[in-house]
Amino acid sequence: MGSREVSNQDWQGKHVTVAGLGVSGIPAAKVLHGLGAVVTVVNDGDDERSRTQAAELEAQGIAVRLGDGATLPESTELIVTAPGWQPDKPLFTAAAEAGVPVWGDVELAWRLRGPGAAPWLAVTGTNGKTTTVRMLASILQAAGLRTAAVGNIGVSLLDAVLGDEEYDVLAVELSSYQLHWAPSLRAHSAAVLNLAPDHLDWHGSMAAYVADKGRVYEGNRVACVYNAADPATEDLVREADVEEGCRAIGFTLNTPGPSQLGVVDGILVDRAFVANRQKQAQELAEVKDIDPPAPHNIANALAAAALARAFGVEPAAVRDGLRAFRPDPHRIEHVANIDGVAYVDDSKATNTHAAEASLAAYDPIVWIAGGLAKGATFDELVTGAAGRLRGAVLIGRDRELIREALTRHAPEVPVVDLDRTDTGAMSEAVREAARLARPGDTVLMAPACASMDMFVNYNKRGEAFADAVRALAAESA
Ligand code: ADP
Repeated sequence: MGSREVSNQDWQGKHVTVAGLGVSGIPAAKVLHGLGAVVTVVNDGDDERSRTQAAELEAQGIAVRLGDGATLPESTELIVTAPGWQPDKPLFTAAAEAGVPVWGDVELAWRLRGPGAAPWLAVTGTNGKTTTVRMLASILQAAGLRTAAVGNIGVSLLDAVLGDEEYDVLAVELSSYQLHWAPSLRAHSAAVLNLAPDHLDWHGSMAAYVADKGRVYEGNRVACVYNAADPATEDLVREADVEEGCRAIGFTLNTPGPSQLGVVDGILVDRAFVANRQKQAQELAEVKDIDPPAPHNIANALAAAALARAFGVEPAAVRDGLRAFRPDPHRIEHVANIDGVAYVDDSKATNTHAAEASLAAYDPIVWIAGGLAKGATFDELVTGAAGRLRGAVLIGRDRELIREALTRHAPEVPVVDLDRTDTGAMSEAVREAARLARPGDTVLMAPACASMDMFVNYNKRGEAFADAVRALAAESA
């Protein structure tokens, strides 16, 4: 953490409770303590790791209460919470009763940024956030701007706003949790990429989830970017309270209308940020400049381009930035070809909407799926993919839900149900998939579920898949 001056007057002696020892909690506690606040960290867990972390904070003079994340410490004036903490926790009920405000990590970063700080271009949505934010940062860099992809990705927002590095603009990924806890955030411009049911167990309902996503548009100054194929995103723009003159800008995979970016004959075109949008269209880049040029990824590129153009970036930089962009691992990543069968890792497909995008990109498919469903249902996903499924191999805790959907909508598709959650389960899944596949097929691991029942995270799940595929390749070589 750097040393840029933040006025500490407001923080001197203020009693702040930090909820959660973790990637956002520990830095938040240290920063607030450094500003003179009286910090108490509360944490549900009391395991060895938290004890080590607590000891380190206590040595610096920060109080830590392990094993009790429910009780509101006396004289708390503000709670700074880890974004993942569910709003219905007793700690927050107690805070509401006591009139204590609750901020998340994003709100804290927003409030601590210095005068003249870099504006934020914000991206949220159910899927495609990381990809879009990284595309955006690549475009902004190509335009010669000092920028970074931050937020729910790579660099933390606190580091970005308090560090020594100077930025002209930040490309910020925001999750629905972070938005829930960020009441005063005001972006320069923002995009909601798409809205599909996800994390409903956390938010309580689809309406609450959508409302939290919609906060990203609140107070936008230049552009609210929406997905013309997803009317719910446009509804959110309509409902948002924005600065005067802020425009609604759509993106579409079709020919764009006025105030939209879209695609004409393999070319990404802009009919929004041009002098005469009734008559003019500006060429930005070609579809083949995008890696991979799958439909959902073209949509991501258009959203990134819209935000960059809202910030005044020239068309050539949009093209150069998209050309320079390479996708992150575990997002429709081709691992190997074995006996004429392609093996693709889309471990990042942690919900049905993401899995739908990659299932649409291959035919025929042996599908490896399952994990934690997070309250989702699978009927629509299975109905859409049924005609392309050679077979399915199901893993993880909630695999029963997917099996039932397959029985209902694709009864002829052979299903292998793996009743094990140990580390060897992925090898068996890959072997079973190989047994079902024929030359020309794709074995696609797009689980439509979170990974934490079997793996530390989706990265580890993707690595386990790739390792199993490589082991299989070595055997058949
Ligand atoms: P996020 O950060 O929102 O989780 P990522 O860019 O990491 O998004 O992509 C997550 C998953 O969603 C990937 O598996 C990818 O294949 C899929 N995906 C990416 N963009 C889209 C999109 N615009 N619509 C639907 N699915 C998408």
